[in-house]
Amino acid sequence: ERTYRVSASTVGHATGLYVLVFKDQSETRRIDRMRADFIANASHELRTPLASIAGFIETLRGPARNDPAARDQFLQIMQNQTGRMARLIDDLLSLSRLEMKPYLRPGTEVDLRQTIDSVIDSLGPLASENGVVIEREFASGPLVVPGDRDELFQVFENLLENACKYGQSGGRVTVSIAGSEDGQQPGFDVTIRDYGPGIAEEHIPRITERFYRVDVESSRTQKGTGLGLSIVKHILTRHNARLSIKSEVGKGAAFTVHLPAR
Ligand code: ADP
Repeated sequence: ERTYRVSASTVGHATGLYVLVFKDQSETRRIDRMRADFIANASHELRTPLASIAGFIETLRGPARNDPAARDQFLQIMQNQTGRMARLIDDLLSLSRLEMKPYLRPGTEVDLRQTIDSVIDSLGPLASENGVVIEREFASGPLVVPGDRDELFQVFENLLENACKYGQSGGRVTVSIAGSEDGQQPGFDVTIRDYGPGIAEEHIPRITERFYRVDVESSRTQKGTGLGLSIVKHILTRHNARLSIKSEVGKGAAFTVHLPAR
């Protein structure tokens, strides 16, 4: 379905000729609709923890007033809910910052080995808390691509954090950097592989959508906003990079980032 805005004007002075301009509005409408959906989803995601906090405040002021055990439990839940809201706001801010600067600063380079080493270091505490060992398989030689270091850090951090959270039961995650196997374009493939429950085929095309979370036990118990992979996708598009996802249920999931060298 396409919609056009049509405007007419005369050509020259009293020539009797008209110019009709057809402006395709379908894309503008689609973007408006996406924006409205996004605001509705974001508001709902923020409203849910807020409603829960308001409910517990009421209980604490009423029935649970003199019950110290209930009070401690409710305060803990309220603290978790504020954490959830803070994560959501951080992710929303990341998305909006990315949208505000649509292009990358040209001329900057990222050392993948050094960036991924620091991602692994920063996720060390989460990995050990979840009983996950992170293994490195890095190719030798220089592993440098054009790009923004902070943004690529965020990409690998999101993917590795997911592997440690959702693939926890596999006990092991591997991070590899290899020369790209995509014959046409020289570059590097960074693969983050876990050995957890994996992702059913029907969910794979949807997990990079905003707010999409697979409704399985692991997503319900793990903290998340459903925005991580959409931020990853956004950043990769700016880097002319691609994300491919392979998974076999029960055997784990592999997320590969294909980064062009130039
Ligand atoms: P979040 O982790 O905040 O929920 P993401 O956008 O990072 O959001 O991920 C979306 C969903 O994709 C997750 O909720 C989870 O259901 C699924 N997912 C992501 N990574 C994995 C993985 N390594 N194994 C299994 N499921 C995953």
